[in-house]
Amino acid sequence: MQQIIRILLKIFPRPILIRISLVLNKVIALFLIGNKVECTVCKGKFRKFLPYGYTKATSRKNALCPRCLSLERHRLMYLYLQKETSFFTDNLKVLHIAPEQCFYKRFKQLSNLDYTTGDLESPIADVHFDIQDIPFENNCFDVVICNHVLEHVDNDKQAMQEIYRILKPNGFAILQVPQAVNNAKTLEDPTVTDPKERERLFLQKDHVRLYGLDYAERLEDVGFTVTANKYTQTFSVEEIKRYHSYSLFHNYSRL
Ligand SMILES: [Zn+2]
Repeated sequence: MQQIIRILLKIFPRPILIRISLVLNKVIALFLIGNKVECTVCKGKFRKFLPYGYTKATSRKNALCPRCLSLERHRLMYLYLQKETSFFTDNLKVLHIAPEQCFYKRFKQLSNLDYTTGDLESPIADVHFDIQDIPFENNCFDVVICNHVLEHVDNDKQAMQEIYRILKPNGFAILQVPQAVNNAKTLEDPTVTDPKERERLFLQKDHVRLYGLDYAERLEDVGFTVTANKYTQTFSVEEIKRYHSYSLFHNYSRL
C-alpha cells in the first residue's frame, strides 16, 4: 500500500491527485471506519490512517486521514490552534500561503476570521504571488500560516523577511518545514539541480534545501522571536498514538 501511494504521488500532479482523492477518499474512509485513530481536524474515527510519502525515506504508515487528507503535522497544528491560541475565537486577519486541502474550507467558514489564501498558482488561492515578493502592506496580518513552502523557495531569507514584514507587531506565524533534527546546519547547494540528487540530499526532487537545527536561527536573523515548542511532548503516549500527530513544532512571533 505504501508503495502504491508513493507511485501515485510521483505519477500524478498535485491538482489531479486532489481531484482523484476527493472522489476516492469518501469510499476508502468508509472501509476504514473504526475507533483506533482519530483525526483532530475532521473528527473522523478510523481503524488506521492511510500511508503517505513521496519517497522511501519519507514514506510512513498511518499518516493520511482518509476523510480530510490531514497528515500528522496538520492534526498537530489544528490541536495547537484550538488549545493554545485564540485562532477560533478572536477577530483575526489571516493570510494562509499554499493553503492545505484539509484546512482552507474550514478556515474560510470561520466568521471570526478575515481569511485570505495565497499561492504561486493554486486555483484555490484568492491571490497569486511569489512568496519572495508578497503584495500586501507592512504590518497587516495577525496570523500567517505557511507550511512546507520555504524548502522549495530559492531565496528563503527574502521569503522570511516578507512574512515578517506583513505580520503585525505581536502577530504570529506558523511556518512548518521538513527538518533534519540530527543536522546542526541546513543543507543547501544551489548548484544541485538534478531531481534525483535533490531527492537524495533534500528529500524531494523539488526541494532546494533540507533545514537543520539552525532553522530557528535563520528566522531570528530576519527579526522573528522564535519559541521552541515541542508541543507533542504535552500529549500522553495514548493521545500520540490516537492522533498520529507527532512532529516538532515551533512558534514564530513578531514581537
Ligand atoms: Zn480528517
